[in-house]
Amino acid sequence: MAAQETVEHKYVYDFAEGNKDLKDLLGGKGANLAEMTNLGLPVPPGFTITTEACKAYLTTGREPDGLAAQIEAHLESLEREMGRKLGDPQDPLLVSVRSGAKFSMPGMMETVLNVGLNDRSVVGLSAQAGGNDRFAWDSYRRLIQMFGKTVCEVPGEEFEHALDDAKRAKGTQNDLDLDADDLRGLVDAYKKIFAKHTGREFPQEPREQLDLAIRAVFESWNAERAVVYRRQERIPADLGTAVNVVAMVFGNLGADSGTGVAFTRDPASGAQGIYGDYLANAQGEDVVAGIRNTVPLQELEQLDKKSYDELLDYMARLEEHYKDLCDIEFTIERGKLWMLQTRVGKRTAAAAFVIAGQLVDEGLIDLDEALHRVNGAQLAQLMFPRFQLDHEFQPVAKGIGASPGAASGKVVFTSARAVELAAEGESVILVRRETNPDDLSGMIAAKGILTSRGGKTSHAAVVARGMGKTCVSGADELDVNVPAKKFTVAGQTVNEGDVVSIDGTTGKVYLGEVPVMPSEVVQYFEGSLDPEHIDNPLVRAVHRIMTHADATRRLRVRTNADTGADAARARRFGAEGIGLCRTEHMFLGDRRELVERLILASTDEERQTALAALLPLQRDDFVEIFREMDGLPVTVRLIDPPLHEFLPPLEQLAVNVAVAQERGEDVAKEEALLAAVRRMHEENPMLGLRGVRLGLVIPGLFAMQVRAIAEAAVAVTRDGGSACPEIMVPLVGAVQELETVRAEAEKIIAEVVGDSGVEVLIGTMIEVPRAALTAGQIAEAAQFFSFGTNDLTQMGWGFSRDDVEGAFFWRYLELGIFGISPFESIDRDGVGRLVRIAADEGRAARPGLKLGVCGEHGGDPESVHFFHEVGLDYVSCSPFRVPVARLEAGRAVLTTTGSDSR
Ligand code: PEP
Ligand code: MG
Repeated sequence: MAAQETVEHKYVYDFAEGNKDLKDLLGGKGANLAEMTNLGLPVPPGFTITTEACKAYLTTGREPDGLAAQIEAHLESLEREMGRKLGDPQDPLLVSVRSGAKFSMPGMMETVLNVGLNDRSVVGLSAQAGGNDRFAWDSYRRLIQMFGKTVCEVPGEEFEHALDDAKRAKGTQNDLDLDADDLRGLVDAYKKIFAKHTGREFPQEPREQLDLAIRAVFESWNAERAVVYRRQERIPADLGTAVNVVAMVFGNLGADSGTGVAFTRDPASGAQGIYGDYLANAQGEDVVAGIRNTVPLQELEQLDKKSYDELLDYMARLEEHYKDLCDIEFTIERGKLWMLQTRVGKRTAAAAFVIAGQLVDEGLIDLDEALHRVNGAQLAQLMFPRFQLDHEFQPVAKGIGASPGAASGKVVFTSARAVELAAEGESVILVRRETNPDDLSGMIAAKGILTSRGGKTSHAAVVARGMGKTCVSGADELDVNVPAKKFTVAGQTVNEGDVVSIDGTTGKVYLGEVPVMPSEVVQYFEGSLDPEHIDNPLVRAVHRIMTHADATRRLRVRTNADTGADAARARRFGAEGIGLCRTEHMFLGDRRELVERLILASTDEERQTALAALLPLQRDDFVEIFREMDGLPVTVRLIDPPLHEFLPPLEQLAVNVAVAQERGEDVAKEEALLAAVRRMHEENPMLGLRGVRLGLVIPGLFAMQVRAIAEAAVAVTRDGGSACPEIMVPLVGAVQELETVRAEAEKIIAEVVGDSGVEVLIGTMIEVPRAALTAGQIAEAAQFFSFGTNDLTQMGWGFSRDDVEGAFFWRYLELGIFGISPFESIDRDGVGRLVRIAADEGRAARPGLKLGVCGEHGGDPESVHFFHEVGLDYVSCSPFRVPVARLEAGRAVLTTTGSDSR
């Protein structure tokens, strides 16, 4: 032990010492430079300072012990290898100092080029470049500019202005027209700017330049833009960046030099071929800055055939080696090709699928690996229509991207108007402050839904996701005035009939019509594209990978659907049953009046009459659904929402009664209604009379539903079909609640089913924390559990599902209290723990207990992995999310067997 403690910590690695698997330590760039070095590719020599050194610096505010000496040793060996000394006045070695974290954070952190130049070595550089003074002074002014900006926080515009002044004085707009004298003058100007802002001269000591540049790269890990980027990309904040110190090679030495980027396949479409850009006589930052126009990489063949052929050879080798799309940065210095960077390239969602499919065809990867390389978020992106935003459209507001997709249409403010205009063939966007169950027909008719209030689990969001309809919720910059049929936003008024466009992925709202493209992946899932017979590489790849995901996954995937149409669509999307049929949606529209009568019934007879009228309607609903889901399980949940949702709004009723009284009209009936509504009014309806509580309070309500389910199942079975109903009791918190409902339900089922052969299961939702904690007891009375993670999150956190996302989640996300809304992705530690406890204790009490989840999390990729780990039998999600859940359920198997999930 003692001997080990004296071994110095290794903070610096030569490129020849690392490899591509050391990304944690060397960052992506450093690890890949090492890999290319070891493959024998021409990488300029250099070394990498580890992320550990960065972390130590960021924690203590100073370089860790030993780092300076290790840098010195590696610098000396680099100098030996290059036969030059850093900043030597006669023949200087120059280096670049580049950031490189484990995960690519493009442009977020710092780079300094040409370190080692000063007033003396600039002359040596010129001699090195064959007396090319212009090049030497241009390199020097670039160093002062980059160093000033990134190391010493000199405002970048000051340098830009000085450069503009120099060009103006010369009467040109092109940097290349500035000659050596002009650039020497510019160096003087830059030095003055530097001194003015820093209170010191530009450092002439090469080693000081190097140390300060390294320190600046370390610090750039915590630059605000890097912090914001990490949060957005969910990259952990404590990884730190590595620093690469690399011998400079120059692409700006004349026409036989240049720099470029290359992709081994098209990162946009995935198509095979050579893609990239080249810029002659330039350094890398000129390409990024877009100052001059690049030419397609293919043109390099004419300019420098030797380098081009060599590059193509390296590209093929890299792709073969990494077995993936690689992107490459290279420089040609006087006809000599240098490889400056490679990495597995970023790509669009479409390219991810296409490339994975191609690599399988080429025998480079197997189907497991292909499945691992795509993800549900990419698939979801491919399933939504998209805006073609090449035209310059500016959003006027940004809400919550509640249900993805892109929709344009005429603004309407009421459900009725939506239905009317849609019937005339118009595309409409239903705009409301928030929606409620009465808006359903308007939501169905509309192309998209836009609300100014509510979060991702608001009524608008949940229902829209269920329908696969675009929705932006909580766009609170909109001032919606429904009676006046208008809203105002950003100082503009939008009236009924005006056209808006909404992007349900980004939450952005545009005025006017933005063109939309349909999704061919949805056409495939819908069955209108045959993957075997069409020439669309994306559809073929999706088909192939989905087929493999289905063969791999253990979790079954069901859907949440309340209508035959939704059930049919979900089945086409691969649903293996219904995990949640919310029956309350069946009590709206013209049935509302019957429900009102039921609630207000003062005699048993009145109640029975209302129930008897509802029974056949409910039965027909279930027959339709059982038919569509023939042979597959259908979980029907007994009615759940608070009763007052079915009654007229309290305030409106009170006003009506008061006005009628004033006029001396007979208001006895309205008064009775008002009294009943008052009696039922709740301050916290989500915690009030709903779910099983309702079933225990209103005699006959659950019994009617159970009878309708059983009768429908028998009818379908007698017709030669196969109905597999599962009756689910909502909001159970104590086993006694379930036992009471169950006892009554079993009697009815036995009576209806008789010898028809129909089997009806009875189970419960686990959505109240108490149910999760007493799952062992509840399992005694339940044939299955389905986790209602929406309510479990609401009650677990004490967050009102309809209010909090719009109200303060932005602050929680900003503070990092959570990285994503717990309504969107399961909170593994808290709510997830409740799920785990209930699953374990439920199965301990009743081995083989069927377990599923039907909250919104059932279609969230991360959550699907969690449910797989916990050992649930199935997830259930909205029809549109079914393919995503299938894919992720397959990927979850691979992840738990050891692959890196990122
Ligand atoms: C849940 O709470 O997760 C659930 C599925 O039920 P609902 O969203 O209808 O309350
Ligand atoms: Mg619920």
